[in-house]
Amino acid sequence: MRAIAIDGPAGAGKSTIARKTAQELGFIYVDTGALYRTIGYAVNHFGLSTKKAGEVVSALDRIHVELKFIDGEQRVFLNGEDVSDLIRSPEVSMFASEVSAIPKVREFLFDLQQDLANHHDVIMDGRDIGTVVLPNADLKIFLTATAEDRAKRRYQQFLESGTVVDFDRLLEEIKQRDYNDSHREIAPLRQAEDALLIDTTGNTLEESIDLLQKIIRNRLGLE
Ligand code: C5P
Repeated sequence: MRAIAIDGPAGAGKSTIARKTAQELGFIYVDTGALYRTIGYAVNHFGLSTKKAGEVVSALDRIHVELKFIDGEQRVFLNGEDVSDLIRSPEVSMFASEVSAIPKVREFLFDLQQDLANHHDVIMDGRDIGTVVLPNADLKIFLTATAEDRAKRRYQQFLESGTVVDFDRLLEEIKQRDYNDSHREIAPLRQAEDALLIDTTGNTLEESIDLLQKIIRNRLGLE
């Protein structure tokens, strides 16, 4: 099996780039952020606080998370219900960031992620894929851009999906998540030593996709 790990902060374009590239290569694209979002969503849905580790951990045995790939698209199921669309709000982003700092939550999701990579060729994106989940990936990429650039992209995506969000709030939220994700004790967001650093600030999405695909094809000997 072949594996490509793409890590980086929120809004760097990881998911769009990884999804398109996976389609081209016939790999499955695994968006691991959706798993943390699902836990955050579930805890809140149960009326518990995502800020309280004890409450979050006590909820885990009531949570069953499953990823299914329907026409190559990842869908995430919480206790049998497809929550893929419900987990996309800025509110759930913060819940995800909070629960993701809890070691038991990371443990809970670890096997599921490794299992997928053991059975499929994957492009997996997240925060700790190259450092923790797939340390032996064939290629590791750390994708980043300035917080302003990333907030602009997220803003555009929300507009296109018909959701009204406040730009300044989005920027604040991205900065807060960057801080949380890179300062937590367990599996913090950082570039793996053997990862390639790609800064997409100022690039169009197409330019970034092109660049990434060239690098991946080259590394995996697909040209
Ligand atoms: O990638 P996305 O923005 O959907 O991730 C939501 C949150 O889930 C991140 O802010 C991060 O806290 C957490 N996450 C993580 N490890 C991953 C993927 C996501 O901690 N591999």
